[in-house]
Amino acid sequence: MIFCLQQKFRCGLCEDLFFPAQRPCLAHLKEQHSGISFKCKLCRKIFRRNDNPHQCRATKDDFYQFNQLNGNKGQDAERYMEIFMKKATEDWCVDIEKKKMEEKEKLNILLEELEVSEDDENETDTFESFQKMSWESEVL
Ligand SMILES: [Zn+2]
Ligand SMILES: [Zn+2]
Repeated sequence: MIFCLQQKFRCGLCEDLFFPAQRPCLAHLKEQHSGISFKCKLCRKIFRRNDNPHQCRATKDDFYQFNQLNGNKGQDAERYMEIFMKKATEDWCVDIEKKKMEEKEKLNILLEELEVSEDDENETDTFESFQKMSWESEVL
């Protein structure tokens, strides 16, 4: 995989998008993947961010959160966003170095287990993560 060394984080949903820090990665997940948008109370248009300048000069208070996936508004949308961001922080904002270390460790454990019992067939981690990856690319 080719990526700039400065890019320490990866969007776990896009897989091919990299960020120098966690913050912009989370901002990207929030804007592009959460399904939560901001609706302007004044002109009723939907925006990705609540600091989007447009013709009716709305301020941040003139927007409310709106879940495009199920039509939830206000508190319900905010709660959904909380859950989404938790998941995004834990799973979808991938720390590339950490991930590499984890995979290395996993491989070591796998190799150790392999040494102990060579005909143990219930090791399906690799297949599962492959399935997960293809599921994610289908969603996009
Ligand atoms: Zn992404
Ligand atoms: Zn507006």
